Amino acid sequence: MIKKILVANRGEIAVRVMRSCRELGIGTVAVFSDADRTAMHVRYADEAYNIGPAPSRESYLNIDNIIGAAKKSGADAIHPGYGFLSENAAFSRRCSEVGIKFIGPDAYAITTMGDKITARQTMIRSGVPVVPGTTEKLTDEKKAVEVVNEIGFPIMIKASGGGGGKGMRLVRSMEDLLPMLRMARSEAMNAFGDDAVYIEKYIESPHHIEFQILADQHGNVVHLFERECSIQRRHQKVIEETPSPLMNPELRNEMGEKAVAAAKAVNYEGAGTIEFIVSDNLNYYFLEMNTRLQVEHPVTERVVGVDLVKEQINIANGLALSFKQEDLKQHGHAIQCRIYAEDPDNNFMPNPGIIKHITEPLGLGVRYDGYVYEGYEIPMYYDPMICKLITWGQTRPEAIARMRRALYEYKITGVITSIKFLERIMDIPSFIAGKYTTHFIEENSEKLLLKKKCGTECEDMAFIAAFVNYMDKLEKIQPPKYTDALGSNWKDFGRKRNVLRL
Ligand code: ADP
Ligand code: ADP
Ligand code: MG
Repeated sequence: MIKKILVANRGEIAVRVMRSCRELGIGTVAVFSDADRTAMHVRYADEAYNIGPAPSRESYLNIDNIIGAAKKSGADAIHPGYGFLSENAAFSRRCSEVGIKFIGPDAYAITTMGDKITARQTMIRSGVPVVPGTTEKLTDEKKAVEVVNEIGFPIMIKASGGGGGKGMRLVRSMEDLLPMLRMARSEAMNAFGDDAVYIEKYIESPHHIEFQILADQHGNVVHLFERECSIQRRHQKVIEETPSPLMNPELRNEMGEKAVAAAKAVNYEGAGTIEFIVSDNLNYYFLEMNTRLQVEHPVTERVVGVDLVKEQINIANGLALSFKQEDLKQHGHAIQCRIYAEDPDNNFMPNPGIIKHITEPLGLGVRYDGYVYEGYEIPMYYDPMICKLITWGQTRPEAIARMRRALYEYKITGVITSIKFLERIMDIPSFIAGKYTTHFIEENSEKLLLKKKCGTECEDMAFIAAFVNYMDKLEKIQPPKYTDALGSNWKDFGRKRNVLRL
């Protein structure tokens, strides 16, 4: 049985994994880069080891150093979280070579599913529908023209090694096809070290719906229903929810069965996600499999009532799943917002910095998975996500209302965040109605993004106004009034700042 787990990750996911370990009485080992000495996951763990300089490739992607820390600490298993080495077959293989249990699938499953072309071929063989397109690595330009003539525009050129929303190009006309293909191949080479690309039909009005699966070492595979992930920006998820507003019970069963078949096709072990693209008329196609825990896993945990990290650990221990498909049910509705240190009104520019003040939302039906604290400086080296906010409701409208309330309660200063942007999404009618596609953010950008027209002149004016206001206050210093006992300090704060008497 696993007694000590090294978490080969950082940020909120490292903390989240350690929380389940703590509940199970399993020891925790953190690894950290030079930039992360004071990070929350380091404070939370029972012990911590430095694994190198700030850049990921020298620390969180440094297999030798991580294995070294695991050996030194006597950890018997490694949890990779998501991102970093979580989908790295060599890492999984290396762990098993040195006798440390990798909490996730073996190198074979990671390789087969990690290469999108091989994954497509494997799915076709197992009877899982894939998006129409090429099934081989595309090098022949004539072949590209042939395939496109057959499936018709628009199409997407995708990198076989792509991920994180990168390595995709939408092509709408023949004259763009070959130049885009050449560009895509050289980009794929640069980004993923592999120029293998393929063509997929572009599904219009697409919905991204994925299925969570769990597979033990004894061949038992179940799905834990779907997650709707169509609220995306640049092919990256922003808001996820379950159940999907688009789903019906028959389709859920059918897609769930396909997801289970997909996992069985690679003798999968652990938690994984089968992503599908679904058209408006409910045709669904396999997109890819993520062979790890997903960023959005908490919505499933909340609605299905399982701790996916505990299940991963049980599976790694060789235990059989303690439930069958028919034991699993969805209860109520859960929504997750990813909150970033970035400025949505300034082209989503990352905004790392020092957290001056933070008040996390609490109360019934709210889960907060974060890692930043007051005085903490968000390093510029890593993903700028600072937390995930998850709300649950008996119904979808209640989950939305609760999310609105939780976003309102969440106060953070020192860094600019995407909270306001998320609040605006909660008020868009098509979101409230559950009628949206992956184009939602683009289609509603007028309402979602405030175009800042403030140039240097405007900044100077604001500075003068603030100065005059300050002088004005100095003149009439008076004790603060606490008359409005039921009022909100934040509202007051906002109001005072807005009243600039010139
Ligand atoms: P999820 O659905 O869990 O968000 P993503 O594909 O967006 O899945 O990836 C999760 C994390 O892994 C993100 O931080 C993302 O930036 C990172 N990631 C995944 N694949 C890659 C890749 N090929 N290159 C760079 N980052 C990646
Ligand atoms: P990644 O590995 O980067 O996550 P995916 O294949 O999962 O790549 O695609 C990411 C997103 O890109 C999808 O959620 C969807 O919004 C969009 N997308 C991908 N393929 C298609 C397609 N064939 N038609 C329409 N949209 C697509
Ligand atoms: Mg994906």
